Amino acid sequence: MSEQTIEPLVVLGLGANLGNPLETLAGVLKEIGKLPQTELVAVSPFYKTAPVDSSGPDYVNAVCAVKTALAPQELLDELQRLENLHGRVRPAGVRNAPRTLDLDVLLWGSQTICTSRLVVPHPRMHERAFVLRPLT
Ligand code: AMP
Repeated sequence: MSEQTIEPLVVLGLGANLGNPLETLAGVLKEIGKLPQTELVAVSPFYKTAPVDSSGPDYVNAVCAVKTALAPQELLDELQRLENLHGRVRPAGVRNAPRTLDLDVLLWGSQTICTSRLVVPHPRMHERAFVLRPLT
């Protein structure tokens, strides 16, 4: 019998409240689908939400599910590259600054991950209606 790897379902959170959020989210979903060794398997509707602990215009949020053979840190690298590609700036000392694009790893199957760069399940996931609504 050939050996088969079963990839866990990875759930990503997407959010944007600067620039053209609808265009950004639609574009980045296509880019996520083209990441190496990664398949985009599901996308939620887009939701408009008021900023939480943040400022600026309303956010557009969504979640998507991918299957990937990338390691968690590798996927995070790719997601941060996409954030930067979409003009994400990280003003020093400003927490939850308005953003052209925010990509979070919410779930990695049933795994827990706790490293200096990545905490999964995402620690603030359960506090955010924009995460819970698209997930349901
Ligand atoms: P944010 O300002 O929300 O984009 O936070 C980005 C920082 O959170 C980065 O330095 C990541 O290394 C870290 N981080 C920790 N856990 C996660 C996660 N589950 N998904 C995305 N970023 C994470």
